[in-house]
Formats: sequence, structure tokens, C-alpha cells
Amino acid sequence: MKIHHVAIAVESLRATVQDFERLLGRAPDWEEDVEDQKVRVAAFALGESRIELLEATSPESPVARFLSKRAQGLHHIALAVADLPEMLTQLQRAGVRLIDRVPRAGAAKQRIAFLHPASTAGALIELIEEK
Ligand code: ZN
Repeated sequence: MKIHHVAIAVESLRATVQDFERLLGRAPDWEEDVEDQKVRVAAFALGESRIELLEATSPESPVARFLSKRAQGLHHIALAVADLPEMLTQLQRAGVRLIDRVPRAGAAKQRIAFLHPASTAGALIELIEEK
């Protein structure tokens, strides 16, 4: 596995994109709405990984719920895997708690699944299938 992206939950995508443009010296590589997660994503590619800024597009978004309970900040770390259904089966067998037992649709139409933070020191880990 390798780190695919690090995602930060933000109150204002516009304001935070400006902060990261100052930091990285360039505009985001792309922006996209992810309907399943009810978020708008701005992504800055960095080598083999990227930083994703997540803004909720609905009060029911997991990112909106996160921001209502905590401050903006690190939301999840995504690890790339080759075969997501197979990995989920393996992890479940190994006793890792899963939020998603079956893959769902993530950004860029890639299949993703979240692990339960109880199994990972409170950090939310996303697995993303990369072919
Ligand atoms: Zn993600």
C-alpha cells in the first residue's frame, strides 16, 4: 500500500484553496463534486499522492457532520490498494472493523471503502482501488 491522498475538511473551499495556492504556488489540479459523499473536492497533486480539500455540499454530508463535532482539519488518509473487495475480505478476516463492507463510489469514479477509526487509533482511513 501507499498513501494515495490526505483529505482535509474545510469550512470554505474558496478560502482554503487560496491558502494552499499560497503554500504550493499554484492552483488546484482539479475540482469535482462527489455526489455519494456530498462534498466538493479541490485536489493538489504532489508526486504520487495529493492533498484533497473537502467542503460539504449538504448538511447531511459526512464532512458537515465532522465539522459540527470538531474543528476543520485532517479528515482522513487514503491508502491505494490493487483489489478493494479482496482487501476488505482480508481485513475483515483479520479482525479490522470496517465502515464499508462493500466498495462505494469515490472521487474520479474510483471505488473506495472506509475503515472504522476504532481499528486505527481514531484516524479515519480510506482504501481506494487503483488499477
Ligand atoms: Zn478520500
